[in-house]
Amino acid sequence: MASRMLQFVHVPQQRPEKRDVTARRADFREIYTDSDAPLAREQSSRCSQCGVPFCQVHCPLQNNIPDWLKLTAEGRLEEAYEVSSATNTFPEICGRICPQDRLCEGNCVIEKGFESVTIGAVERFITDTAFDRGWVRAPIPASENGLSVGIVGAGPGGLAAAEQLRRQGYAVHVYERYDRVGGLMTYGIPGFKLEKRIVQRRHELLEQAGIVFRLGTEIGRDISMDELRARHEAVLLATGVYKARELGGPGAGLPGIVKALDYLTASNRKGFGDEVPEFDSGVLDAAGRDVVVIGGGDTAMDCVRTAVRQGAHSVKCLYRRDRANMPGSMREVRNAEEEGVEFLWLSAPEAFLGDAAVSDVRAMRLRLGLPDASGRQSVEPIEGSHFTVPATLVIKALGFDPEDLPAAFGEPALAVTRWGTLKIDYRTFMTTLPGVFAAGDIVRGASLVVWAIRDGRDAAAQMHAWISEAAAQSSPQLAAD
Ligand code: FAD
Ligand code: SF4
Ligand code: SF4
Repeated sequence: MASRMLQFVHVPQQRPEKRDVTARRADFREIYTDSDAPLAREQSSRCSQCGVPFCQVHCPLQNNIPDWLKLTAEGRLEEAYEVSSATNTFPEICGRICPQDRLCEGNCVIEKGFESVTIGAVERFITDTAFDRGWVRAPIPASENGLSVGIVGAGPGGLAAAEQLRRQGYAVHVYERYDRVGGLMTYGIPGFKLEKRIVQRRHELLEQAGIVFRLGTEIGRDISMDELRARHEAVLLATGVYKARELGGPGAGLPGIVKALDYLTASNRKGFGDEVPEFDSGVLDAAGRDVVVIGGGDTAMDCVRTAVRQGAHSVKCLYRRDRANMPGSMREVRNAEEEGVEFLWLSAPEAFLGDAAVSDVRAMRLRLGLPDASGRQSVEPIEGSHFTVPATLVIKALGFDPEDLPAAFGEPALAVTRWGTLKIDYRTFMTTLPGVFAAGDIVRGASLVVWAIRDGRDAAAQMHAWISEAAAQSSPQLAAD
């Protein structure tokens, strides 16, 4: 069935509806409704099928976007799913949480004047439909190859690698310190962006394929790196970055000032129905409190919107730069504003006030100055601009660094960069330990799910090449074959 593409001139951009603000403030369900087939088809037909598709160039996975848009516009959804899943391990997840405004959609050539094709929403629709119709199958290999790999960390980087290696017949063992699979997709990102069932159904498929998950197992504590390397032909480290950047200033140690990830993890665990003493005692619960979140990235946006849903009395976000210079996705800022969050741009905390616990934040206004060595505009304090905001819960969302990795893994030979991330050879993804590879945030620093997937897939290909070469060297007959 041929379709007419290039409909952007006649068909306006239309995103799936957002749920009503009052309803969405009251629960942790995703805020975007599903596309239906007519909407996905119509919106796909807006694509102009560029010869050099900048959307694809700016997608970290180089997804074949024009092809799956055309197939969707033609109603050939199973083929669209095959094309989309050929380059992306979790397209329905990226369709939900990639910052598309900075990646594929932000570079769509019809953006200027006509507004981009809704690439993320279509990608989500294709794979959700594929799940509904039973087209998504477990990555069961055609045959076992008798070799085994160990993956440390069940976040998107580790899972993407596990899936690729299992397809090739490896016995894949995933070691994860937590009790659930998904990494930050499970315990960091809240359900209103990515419902937990979406990650769980992927976990189930990977288990059906025979991947062994060793949950509650921390490498470096429960199993040493030496032992792990002895068990497997090769090992992948995909353990993310978790050390929160700290706040300074008077009163910074007062009770009531908490770390973003502790706060979000507690909220996500409550969503699973777990017992969380620090939530139940009120320490990590925003209900009825005046909440101030400090930071301007995705984590800060997730904290303010979680606080709204927990029934906070007021929610403010304090960020040192302005709206145009914040690192978080603009789409998420708009969602937060709709939900009642107040943004205090160009503001920084000076001191935390209170006796037994924090009660207020004293802050000052800033202005943007000249660009610094990194090219970013510096910020300068404005004399006499102090102000105070009530704050009975302060959430620190200033970003994450890696911990001391050689110490954590008990492996002094594991080299790190000057940022503390794992040092790898970028062609082979191998660390300074032979046969030990690394992928995702632990290599890049805090990044995105889509980049972790990309790294996991690339690292898996390199692990396969390295193991194959080692096997060929130890068996000359194999090399001759
Ligand atoms: P992780 O997802 O961190 O997974 C690492 C896993 O390794 C964890 O499960 C951890 O428990 C486990 N682990 C650690 N050490 C050990 C050990 N020694 N032994 C065994 N297991 C171990 N990205 C987006 O694209 N879109 C978003 O909207 C978005 N929102 C975010 C919101 C928040 C609050 C945060 C914190 C991040 C967000 N990100 C977002 C970033 C994204 O989640 C990460 O870039 C991505 O999850 C990194 O994947 P990873 O596999 O490298 O690590
Ligand atoms: Fe866009 Fe992310 Fe999908 Fe790539 S993976 S097409 S960047 S939504
Ligand atoms: Fe279609 Fe936009 Fe990609 Fe061009 S850049 S192929 S119009 S989605």
